[in-house]
Amino acid sequence: MKHFNFLIFLFAPMLFSQELTPIDTADFATRKMLVAEYKTAFEIFNDKINKKHKGRIKRELRDIYEFSQEEFIRTIEKREFILDARFTEYISTLSDKLNTKLNTNDVSDFKILVSRSNNPNAYCMPGDILVINIGLFRFFNNEEQLLSVICHELGHKQLRHPENTLLSKVTLNNSEALKARLRNIERKKVGQNDEAFALMKNILYSEGGKRRIEEQQADSLGYLLFRKMGLPNSSFLEALYLLKEFDSIPSIEIVQKDYETLFDLSEQPFKDQWLEVEDFSKYNYSFYKEKISADSLKTHPELEERILKLKKDFSELNNPLIPEPKIDTSSTFYKLKLVANQEVITNYIEKEDYGKGIYFNIARLIDEPKNDYLKKLLGQNFLLLYEAKKQYTFNKYVAYVTPEMEDESYIRYLSFLWNLNLDEMKNISDYYLQN
Ligand SMILES: [Zn+2]
Repeated sequence: MKHFNFLIFLFAPMLFSQELTPIDTADFATRKMLVAEYKTAFEIFNDKINKKHKGRIKRELRDIYEFSQEEFIRTIEKREFILDARFTEYISTLSDKLNTKLNTNDVSDFKILVSRSNNPNAYCMPGDILVINIGLFRFFNNEEQLLSVICHELGHKQLRHPENTLLSKVTLNNSEALKARLRNIERKKVGQNDEAFALMKNILYSEGGKRRIEEQQADSLGYLLFRKMGLPNSSFLEALYLLKEFDSIPSIEIVQKDYETLFDLSEQPFKDQWLEVEDFSKYNYSFYKEKISADSLKTHPELEERILKLKKDFSELNNPLIPEPKIDTSSTFYKLKLVANQEVITNYIEKEDYGKGIYFNIARLIDEPKNDYLKKLLGQNFLLLYEAKKQYTFNKYVAYVTPEMEDESYIRYLSFLWNLNLDEMKNISDYYLQN
C-alpha cells in the first residue's frame, strides 16, 4: 500500500510545475460521432440477437439489451469516456499492436474506451466493448501491465462471458428479479455512479461462484494472448499484484496541522470542533450498510486466488518477480500516467464523488501551498459542496463516516466536511476563489 502513497507524492510536484494540458472535454463533435457509431453497432448486435433467439427469451434479452444500450449512450453523452486525442490515439496504437500480433482466430473485433473512473479497473461489455479506467494509468508502471489487463478482458470477450451470463439469467427465468433490479438502479441514478454502464455491470458482475470461474478462465486465455504477443510473462502477474494492493480509500494522509494551515482564514478563524469525530455508538448500523459496502474495498481475496491459479497452470510464472518493474519516463504510457495523476481531482468531481476529489485537492495543496490552480480548484469544489448542502443532497456526494473505516486521516477528513456549516463552506469557497 505504502508505495502508492509514495508514487502519489512523487508525482504531485512534478505534475503541476509541468502544467500538463488538462483532458480535453470540448469534444462535442467526437462524442456525437461515437454515439452514432454505437447506435449503428447496437442495431447490428440486436439483429443478431433477434435471429438467434425465439419467444420469451428473445423478448427479455432484447429488453435488457435495449435498456442497457440506452444507458450506455447516456454514459457517452455524460462525458464518462475520455475522448482526448492523447488517449484515443494511444489506445488505437495499442489496438493495432494487438491486432498485428494476434490473428482473427485469437481475437475478433473489439473497441476500447477509456473511462474517467479513478478505480484501477476494466470490464468487458456485450457488443465487444472493452472499457479501461483511467485509474489503470495511475496505478500501473508501464504499457505491458496495461496490456495484460486488456488481454484479460479480451479473454472474457472471446469466451463470450457477458452474453452468456445474461442469457443464462434470462433462461433461468430470473428476469423478474433482474427487472426489479434495473428499475432500482434507474431510480438511484443520481450520484455515486462510479462506473460507466452501471446497469449492465451490475447484472454481469454480481454473482460470486460463476464469476470466480470466469475470472480464472479470462486469466488463462488472457495470459495465452499476452504470451503470444511476446510480452514479458512477469508483467501479467505484476499487474495482478498491483491490483491486489488497491484500496478504495486513497492512501494519503492529512493531519490536524494541515487543516489549521489551510482553513484558518482571517475572516473565519479555524475551529477545533471542525475536526471532532462523531461517536459511532449512536449510529444505526443497518442504515449505513450500503455506504459501508460501497466504501470498503480493501481486501481482494479473489485476486490472490487468481494469482495462485495462474502460477499453478503456467510453470514459467513461478519464477520470482523482477523486483523493479520497468518505468520508462519517455514512453507515451508514462506521459498519460502523468495526465491521469493530474486529473485525479477532476475525475472524482466529474463522477460526483466530491468527498474523494476534495481529499486529493487538500493533500496536493499542502504539498504545493503556492499553486494557484489548486487553490482555485479548492474554491470551486467547496462551492459545489456548499450548493449540495444547501439543496440537501450533501450525502450523495460525501460519504458518511462509518464504524468500519480504519483510516484515521480519512475519518478526520470526512468529519471535517460534515462538521462545516453552510456559511463556513461558503466562506472557504470565497476565500480560495479570490486568492
Ligand atoms: Zn475479469
